[in-house]
Order: sequence, then C-alpha cells, then structure tokens
Amino acid sequence: MSILVADDEHTSLLIAKMALRKLGYQCDTVADGIQAWDAFRSGHPDVVISDWMMPGLSGLQLCRKIRSHTSGAQTYFIMVSGLGAREQIVEGMDAGADDYLLKPLDIDDLRIRLIAAARVTALHRKLVQQRAELEALNQELAASALRDPLTGLGNRRALGEDLDQMGARATRYGHRYCMALLDVDHFKSYNDTYGHQAGDRALETIADHLRDEARDGDALYRYGGEEFLCVFPEQSLALATVGVERMRTRLERLAIPHTTNSLGVLTLSAGLAMLDPSDARSVAEVVKEADEALYRAKQLGRNRVEHATLHPTPAGSF
Ligand code: GH3
Ligand code: MG
Ligand code: MG
Repeated sequence: MSILVADDEHTSLLIAKMALRKLGYQCDTVADGIQAWDAFRSGHPDVVISDWMMPGLSGLQLCRKIRSHTSGAQTYFIMVSGLGAREQIVEGMDAGADDYLLKPLDIDDLRIRLIAAARVTALHRKLVQQRAELEALNQELAASALRDPLTGLGNRRALGEDLDQMGARATRYGHRYCMALLDVDHFKSYNDTYGHQAGDRALETIADHLRDEARDGDALYRYGGEEFLCVFPEQSLALATVGVERMRTRLERLAIPHTTNSLGVLTLSAGLAMLDPSDARSVAEVVKEADEALYRAKQLGRNRVEHATLHPTPAGSF
C-alpha cells in the first residue's frame, strides 16, 4: 500500500513518517499542498494523509482536487486536523475524505485508520480488476457474436455489418467490390455417406483452405450451412475470377473423398458478381446476382465458376 503524507510542519511530518515506519509502512512526504497534488498525479498513492492547514493548497482543496481527478476515487484520503476542530472534520468528510486523524498523531489511531484503508484499497483493486475482466469478456462476447463457431470465419451477422459499410463506401468513395458465393457440391450426400461429424470436419478443412487461398484484404465469411462468401475489394472481375478459380482448384486437388460426387472428391461451385459504383445496384442486389450465377454453375454441372450476366462488363475490362 503506497502512502503519501503532506504536512507543512517539519516535526509533524517526521512524527508521521516514523510512526508509519514503526507500523511497517513506507511513505513519501511532501511539505505543501501543491507538491502533494503533483505527487498524487505522478504516483497515484493508495493513501493520502494530509494536513488541513497547508500553504499553496489546503488539505480541503487537495481532497476536492483528488476526488475530481479520474483516478482519485480510489485514493483513501485521511484528513489531519488539530484537536477541537470538529467542524473541520465534518467539512473534510463532506469534501470526500474517507477518515480523519487528530494532531498530535497517535500511533494506535494511525494503525486503526490504516487497517480500514488497506481493506478499502484491496476492495478497490479487486473492483478495478473485475471491471477489466468484465470488459475483456464483453469484447470477447462481441467478437464471438460475429464469428462462426465451427470455422472461425465471420458469420452472417458480421457479413451484414460489413456489407452495409461496403455499400456506403461504394456510394461515397466509388469503391468497387467483387463478391463470390461458393457452395460445396452435393454436400447433403456427403453427410449421408460419411456422417454429420465428418461433414463438420470437412467444412472446417474447406474453410481453412479457402482462408489460406484468399489474398490480404479479401474477406471470407460463412454465408450459410455449406456456403461461403468471399469479398474481393478493389479488384477487377478478372482478378477476382482468378482468386475464386484458385479456391475451386485447391479444394479439388485436396481430394477429400466423396464417392457419390462425379469426380469422387469434394468440389465447390461459385457465382461471382461485381458491385460497381457507376451503376445504382445495391449490395443486396449484387449478392443476389452472385447467387443466381452460383445457381447457373450448379445447373451447368457443378465444380465451376460462373459470373453474373445481368450486367456484362464492358469488353476489355474483364
Ligand atoms: P448442391 O450441390 O446443389 O449444393 O447440393 P447440396 O447437397 O450441397 O445442397 P443442399 O442445400 O441440398 O444441402 C446442403 C447440405 O449441407 C445439407 C446440410 O445437412 C449440410 N450442412 C449445412 N450446414 C452444415 C453443417 O454445419 N455441418 C454439416 N455436417 N452439414 C451441414
Ligand atoms: Mg447450399
Ligand atoms: Mg451445396
């Protein structure tokens, strides 16, 4: 427990210091209120034992200043006043002092005050620690509310929030985004053949590989059951297509057995669309276009990437 003693009378200061040492405490000492305020701000002592009458700042003013400081509520403030100054004690307690001592200092009184101070200080520390733990838990909770527990990817809610931001950036700054919806082929029959648990493991593995294949700045989400959504910011449709094709071939080469699938391994199909700030489509419309393109990829035989056709890109830009 760190203690600061403020008193302009040299003898009183010495007596306090010696009494504290006798009781097993170290302390810092200052000879006026201004020095006490400076020492408080630099050291944030647990306990301040302050004389009432001091030049610069009185004990009362010091107490008020400490209480109005952001971390001042945790300091145990003991006001020291002369015998027969009961109204000073009341005023001091009103100003935020926790306790008082009378001069001349009595070592037993000091001991009692410090027992209370130690108790309150320990409680304050515990409170501060609990508040920090609570804060960390809250942050963790907020983060986990946006994460899919199976794959660790952003979930639908995170995607919703991010898509809102993308829409705003596209409108305001002309940012361009390509979006791909990727869906594992014949996954229902994978579950039926290998079991739901194996299906979960496969989804985890697929997510890991897609994440690994995504470039810095691309954002991957678990869109739904066996569907993923990848956002490619500031990329042409051609570049984004290369990215999605790499994801598709990576899964194919991974060769996770799926005997009832045409290639005998797990594969995925994808649909790609672009949010172009030069036309007035909303983010939701672009996701819908990617979904339609995905549907076409399924129709055309699966394990392939298709583009939205409603808004063909000008020749040369693809
Ligand atoms: P398609 O090629 O047309 O996409 O066929 P599909 O069987 O993959 O599509 P469908 O939508 O009929 O089935 C999706 C399957 O994905 C059904 C569901 O049980 C499975 N699935 C969704 N989420 C999970 C999950 O978290 N774990 C597991 N193991 N399976 C899941
Ligand atoms: Mg699906
Ligand atoms: Mg599927």
